[in-house]
Amino acid sequence: MHGAEGVTAVYFLPGPRPAIIETAPATSLTRVLAGLSAAGVSDLDWIVLTHIHLDHAGAAGHLAQRFPRARVVVRAEGAPHLVDPSRLWASAARLYPDMDGLWGSMLPVPPDRIDVVSSDGVVADLGDGRRLEAVYTPGHARHHMALFEPGSGDLFTGDAAGVFLEEVGAVHPATPPPEFDLEASLESLRRMQALGAKRAFPTHFGLSALEPDQLFDEAAASLRRAVALAEEVVVAGGGVPEIGGRLREEELAALPRLLEDTALADRLGQTTSYELNASGIARYLSKRKAG
Ligand SMILES: [Zn+2]
Repeated sequence: MHGAEGVTAVYFLPGPRPAIIETAPATSLTRVLAGLSAAGVSDLDWIVLTHIHLDHAGAAGHLAQRFPRARVVVRAEGAPHLVDPSRLWASAARLYPDMDGLWGSMLPVPPDRIDVVSSDGVVADLGDGRRLEAVYTPGHARHHMALFEPGSGDLFTGDAAGVFLEEVGAVHPATPPPEFDLEASLESLRRMQALGAKRAFPTHFGLSALEPDQLFDEAAASLRRAVALAEEVVVAGGGVPEIGGRLREEELAALPRLLEDTALADRLGQTTSYELNASGIARYLSKRKAG
């Protein structure tokens, strides 16, 4: 994504009824199609989205067009934005100056192609007795769901367990505006922990080198830490830039390799930047204060 390797995953689940989880943005479409073609995929049954942020779902319309049999599976709150992406696009344009360069274009998904998910349970039959279940995990976004394959014990966590790049070796929180909510995030981590998953796959990026329990514990700790830091900054009269600065300082102090390896630091920044995280936490804190 954005010219870097290992930032955003698209997971391919082979079988009689093949699925992908996430699509990456339209700017990654050539790579995604090349990967699917290398895997011998001629059609897909399922395009499953953890949530509709552009890095996860930006190419959903393109892929639905390319794979005409596929059903697009998304939480109910996100579905209208796939049918008409204009509001989602406008809201992202407030955060990113170069929308076309970063995200390409977002094609609408025809409403009759969408499977709307409004409760947990089986959302995709993969064939051979395998199935994917939705696990509602709000917090990063209100319409976020994780996907669990009970047969294998694989859990696709989207952004609900934060970002874990193996080379970084620690959880980097993902707390963007406008919907980040600490309590909902912590509750979602508990829900995922209760599944007893064998392996966890964050979308950023790949099979987690941490055991799922440890990933969820570290994700919860990283969120608490980030919010506590932001609260200190706010009490001292600081705003979003100061919160972002503080989040960056703390992470670099804990992970000095990010200072030496600027390519790795850039890659981490592509998943979610300190500024974006700061702005999401600031918004959460002001909502909480307003009650
Ligand atoms: Zn997201």
